[in-house]
Amino acid sequence: MPYVVTQSCCADASCVVACPVNCIHPAPGEPGFGTAEMLFVDPKTCVDCGACTTACPVDALVPHTRLTEAQLPFMQLNADYYKDNPHSDRTPLALIPPKRLLRRTKAARIAIVGAGPSGMYLADELLKHGQLDVDVYDRLTTPYGLARYGVAPDHRATRGVTKVFQAIERVEGFDYQLGVRIGEDVTHEELAAHYHAVVYCTGASTGRKLDIPGEGLPGSITGPQFVAWYNGHPDVIEPPAGLLSGLASGRAVVIGNGNVALDIARLLTTDPEHLADTDISLSALEALRNSAIDEVVLLGRRGAVNAAFTLPELIGLAGVEDITVVVDGECGDDTPKTKLLAEMAARPPRGKRRIVFRFETTSAQIHGEDKVTGLEVTRGGVNETLDAGLVISSIGYRGSAVPGLPFDEVTGRMTNEDGRVAPGIYTAGWIKRGPSGFIGTNKGCAEQTAKLLLDDLDGGLLPEPKGSHKDIRKLIARRNGNVLDLAALRA
Ligand code: NAP
Repeated sequence: MPYVVTQSCCADASCVVACPVNCIHPAPGEPGFGTAEMLFVDPKTCVDCGACTTACPVDALVPHTRLTEAQLPFMQLNADYYKDNPHSDRTPLALIPPKRLLRRTKAARIAIVGAGPSGMYLADELLKHGQLDVDVYDRLTTPYGLARYGVAPDHRATRGVTKVFQAIERVEGFDYQLGVRIGEDVTHEELAAHYHAVVYCTGASTGRKLDIPGEGLPGSITGPQFVAWYNGHPDVIEPPAGLLSGLASGRAVVIGNGNVALDIARLLTTDPEHLADTDISLSALEALRNSAIDEVVLLGRRGAVNAAFTLPELIGLAGVEDITVVVDGECGDDTPKTKLLAEMAARPPRGKRRIVFRFETTSAQIHGEDKVTGLEVTRGGVNETLDAGLVISSIGYRGSAVPGLPFDEVTGRMTNEDGRVAPGIYTAGWIKRGPSGFIGTNKGCAEQTAKLLLDDLDGGLLPEPKGSHKDIRKLIARRNGNVLDLAALRA
């Protein structure tokens, strides 16, 4: 079996299009694409040409002879996919979508708000048409959104996706307006008056709340805040209040069973020296070096079989040499995930720090007066208080409304239909569809939005802007002297 897809797979399908023998699935358009935990190479048809590995932006494709010991389980995982999904009816070559030609030949200008993965993939899609120019806006002066501030620093390969975004920046017609706040430095109406269309790719950057007593006490924090802190997000430069006191206690509790919860538990229990040569923020590294946490309890409200973390991420955790894994309770039905979890729990202790998986447990109340001292939980009708100095609720991200645009408070998304808010206003990424999927999932999402935008452009639904490109830049520069375009960013 020559090539194997491994943990960092971003599922953007670059490899699928590059493969000359169509041996990587699920491919775009096939059942499971967009929801599968990763893509898989068919060991029987791979011809070992290496085209996939050249195309992959996150170094996820590895020749089987170069797999590390920790990556070996991915060989079986790739092969197993084809036992259940033989794809016997597939065409001999991957289908490359036909290139769309625009009816419009005159130049058009598009503003994209948000320089994270969905905004960058959208820019890429639009810039395939030479007559389109794109300005990507972001409130931060550093681009790439969650690819920079959301991916765990020890996931080095996944962070490599920024190379793709740097290549998009080099396409003619691309520019930035970084450091611009929509609603403060410029309104939506002003943007709309200077571009043929405005696309919102503002993501979902706040943490969902649990709404239990004690939430908000020093030492209680959301997963997204914690992730922003260890990644050096400018909004969370200092350790959030109470974090250091939390780190001084022996136990932290992470509520939620998603991949973000797994990232946080791993970061809190990994030997900080293994993080020293990563992109982790220096202050976070220093705090972790001083941390006395030796146990992280991961609380799932459902059973192991329903845990939201993915098998590739669990395999990744299984490969960390110095973390002991304990399962407090039963793993439940036999699935690849629960089997691996049981296997990890059966190993002899590996290091002084441990992660304890505790399933079917709900959180009732955070205890403490001026700081967190524990979390009251319920399992099987029995109440119990877990002593802890740090409680992190990692129960998902939530989008925020853009002033003046429709927003669904229940789902936390911009109100839209397949990415169209109204002709001239569009959306892509987490603010369009909610906080789910992997970085590459945003590529397909952006393609869907771009199609609708181009349909409206070709259909004559997008009027010519009232002001010029220079006008909007001057207007913003008058209000904010710290805006960076691409040249300034590079300088
Ligand atoms: P997620 O995958 O949606 O997981 C949220 C977790 O919170 C679930 O375990 C959920 O339980 C739990 N939860 C929700 N409401 C709760 C409540 N009121 N009380 C207790 N638990 C509650 O979200 P995420 O971890 O923030 O990840 C977001 C997306 O980014 C996911 O698609 C994820 O796969 C992706 N991601 C990927 C990677 C990677 O590939 N390396 C890394 C990080 C994130 P239920 O299942 O019971 O609802």
